[in-house]
Amino acid sequence: MTSIVPTHWYNVLSDLADVEDAARLRRARPAEGPRPADGAITPQIPLTMYRQSLSREPFIEIPEEVRRQYLRWRPTPLRRARNLEQLLRTPARIYFKYEGTSPTGSHKLNTALAQAYYYKQAGVEELTTGTGAGQWGSALSLAARIYGLRCTVYMVRVSHEQKPYRRVMMEMNGARVVPSPSTGTSAGRAALERDPDTGGSLSIANAEAFEHAAARDRCNLSVGSGENHVLLHQTVIGQEALRQLEALDEFPDVVIGAVGAGSNFSGLAFPFFHEKIRTGRATRFVAVEPQACPKLTKGTYAWDYNDFTGVTPMTKMYTLGHTFVSPGIHAGGLRYHGAAPLVSAMYDQKLIEAVAYPQQRVFEAGLTFAEQEWITPAPESAHAIRAAIDEAVRAREEGREKVILFNLSGHGLLDLSAYDHYLSGRMTDLAATEDQIRASLDRLPPQTDARPAAHAGTPSP
Ligand SMILES: *Cc1c(COP(=O)(O)O)cnc(C)c1O
Repeated sequence: MTSIVPTHWYNVLSDLADVEDAARLRRARPAEGPRPADGAITPQIPLTMYRQSLSREPFIEIPEEVRRQYLRWRPTPLRRARNLEQLLRTPARIYFKYEGTSPTGSHKLNTALAQAYYYKQAGVEELTTGTGAGQWGSALSLAARIYGLRCTVYMVRVSHEQKPYRRVMMEMNGARVVPSPSTGTSAGRAALERDPDTGGSLSIANAEAFEHAAARDRCNLSVGSGENHVLLHQTVIGQEALRQLEALDEFPDVVIGAVGAGSNFSGLAFPFFHEKIRTGRATRFVAVEPQACPKLTKGTYAWDYNDFTGVTPMTKMYTLGHTFVSPGIHAGGLRYHGAAPLVSAMYDQKLIEAVAYPQQRVFEAGLTFAEQEWITPAPESAHAIRAAIDEAVRAREEGREKVILFNLSGHGLLDLSAYDHYLSGRMTDLAATEDQIRASLDRLPPQTDARPAAHAGTPSP
């Protein structure tokens, strides 16, 4: 039997002819937009990935070398949550794709390996990045070690203090981990000047990594979510799930994923979106976000920066504003202020839906899932579980069958302090307030309708 691990990534741009401009050329600084503090800084991505992010080809071949690494843990399991179904007395069938079986505990390794491979090919010697909860930093550290690259990770200070084991994981793979904001970059120093006691944010950590890369030869910034090529690499998830469900003669009525910037959601959903278009099915796609960072349900579709200080090029996306600092919920991976350009364009076109939940209902769902299915979900993934449970309950109320598929994007075994917080009754809900959102949207850069001229990443030869 041939492996169900795909040989190609699926490129959703091939099915989005109508939203081409929105999804494909959205990454540019509008001609009349403000210049960043240092106009010379642009991220450099290898030409291969740059082409991937603009391509209209439906399928893009996975390099043999990368696929061989995938085969060390893929395919990941697709399971039916029968005990959860029984508890909910639902006629729905609930399936989940479990990405927590990856060596670093989440889906992020799918793109980290591909990126490290392409950067190595392009002659890069060091990769740097920002990480929030530490999942992305862990994945990139491992991928960098596999391809013999140095790795420097700017880790949001609160996580650096609260999640020491994530730091140790990165250091075991030879990465240098710097708590952010640091005094080593001007973005870090500026943040410390504003607030010496700041716990940091992903937006600041990314600005530091950006500056780190710009100041060094053969050192590039690698980004773990949001970019078109990242979403592309994650489509191994959905393609496997499609085949795994096919073997059971099933097809989902609803596909669900938690959204940080959108990579695990897209990775699972896009291949099913392709099938929906190809076969005319009625499948729905639901992106789940925290009420503490509701970029899709409460944000606006606008040009904005990807980092706090505005050194990165702008992206057209659903955003809460680049100066938005999400309340400190435990799902650190969902605290990013914007959604991926592709996810944003599809949401704008009503091709996908979104829902936001408060933290305690999410942990309630995570705990229920752990009791019934014996897997401890990452707090991020528990958002998808919450939505899946609610869909299943609705199916019961409406008295009809339904096939639900969600992405269990990672395990939560390094997030037990969050569950401790929940169990001890100390957890609160921390929604973003209307005032906070309005204040941060007021600081969006001036909007212009000028046609985008280029993609964010400048290809490096
Ligand atoms: C990073 C992360 C997320 C959110 O990021 P996306 O790019 O939106 O997928 C969700 N779940 C886990 C386990 C993560 O590590």
